[in-house]
Amino acid sequence: MPRRISILGATGSIGQNTLDLVRRNVAAYDVVALTGAGNIAQLAADAIEMRAKIAVTARPDLLEDLRDALKGSDVEAAAGADAVVEAASRPADWIMSAIVGAAGLAPGFAALAQGCTLALANKESLVCAGQLLLETAHTHGATILPVDSEHSAIFQALVGEDITAVERIIITASGGAFRDWPLDKLAQATLDQASSHPNWDMGQRITIDSASMFNKAMEVIETREFFGVDPDQIEVLVHPQSMVHALVGFRDGGLMAHVGPPDMRHAIGYALHHPHRAHLPVERLDLAAIGQLDFSTPDGARWPALRLAREVMGAGGLMGAVFNAAKETALDGFIAGQINFTQMAEVVEDTMTQLDRQPGYIDVSMTLDNVHKVDHLAREAAKAAIDKRAG
Ligand code: NDP
Ligand code: MG
Repeated sequence: MPRRISILGATGSIGQNTLDLVRRNVAAYDVVALTGAGNIAQLAADAIEMRAKIAVTARPDLLEDLRDALKGSDVEAAAGADAVVEAASRPADWIMSAIVGAAGLAPGFAALAQGCTLALANKESLVCAGQLLLETAHTHGATILPVDSEHSAIFQALVGEDITAVERIIITASGGAFRDWPLDKLAQATLDQASSHPNWDMGQRITIDSASMFNKAMEVIETREFFGVDPDQIEVLVHPQSMVHALVGFRDGGLMAHVGPPDMRHAIGYALHHPHRAHLPVERLDLAAIGQLDFSTPDGARWPALRLAREVMGAGGLMGAVFNAAKETALDGFIAGQINFTQMAEVVEDTMTQLDRQPGYIDVSMTLDNVHKVDHLAREAAKAAIDKRAG
């Protein structure tokens, strides 16, 4: 029996890498839903090729374009945020959650509610609502498998291990585009410069987040939420080659490292075939040719986002949702040219401080409604912080 799968965010970098793996053994899968947003041509072409039941764009204004692009095929078309959620709730065995940003939350929860295996690339779900996400999976008998490369690496290093024997978890960071830049030049970094990653080929937003280390800050929080370890058990190590993705340190002093090429098809493939290991089309590392792997401690002055992640974990409650919304808004501000590269962290910190002072926002119960409310308030506060700097 083919496995029923859906891909949320199919037109993005993770989505396309997932389809690359599916395409190699297409008879094994029955594609239920593919979703995207602006890239209608890709969405329609993939939906037709994969004989998907439904293709959904998150943008209602593009429904007619999608219908036109699907003309002559049996693929159903739908549009809008609710339609993405509806597609996510269509019965499937395995669903890839690869929408970028907080927009990925509601579809991910809908997928879990039908008890599927959720391959989770959308780290924002864990940062904004980690506890609720795990509880929802538990309630519905669903399984979450991490797709972020560091978290897949930790997950793999923990197979057969007892989590209580874990002393520390180390996630690595390449250091992004500006690892070696003089500190006083960072404020002048352009959008083009921030949008190129030395090792990984990813979507633009996560690439810029890698340069600012906001991506790693999100991943520290993601580690805490997913694996349930204390914040002080999580360390970040700069590793320019991006080959050691994470290390798990046990109480006997042993470290299990996960080593592999910087290719997301490994983590995606691991989640797709779990609990089995299948042949994957990724490079086999020649360690003798590589010769050397480097590690260093991250510079707090260069990457204030890492300190902010510690503050988020210290505050608890809905501070993760504030952090993510402020980060997404600050990133929009940088992309639009309203603020410079280093002002992104200032905007996030201002927003966290402001919402922390207002009782009843951060410490309300974690429901999806409250997460959305806090997300909205944080975006408003972050926009005001951007306007203050832009004006
Ligand atoms: P991309 O920007 O490449 O793709 C994002 C996907 O989400 C696209 O399909 C896009 O549609 C869709 N999308 C955008 N906005 C919305 C919206 N409002 N509602 C519904 N769908 C929307 O992102 P990535 O693939 O790089 O990242 C996806 C997720 O995976 C992120 O959470 C990221 O942090 C995480 N991740 C990514 C890694 C990577 O290597 N890329 C590594 C680890 C984690 P369209 O393109 O049609 O507009
Ligand atoms: Mg990662």
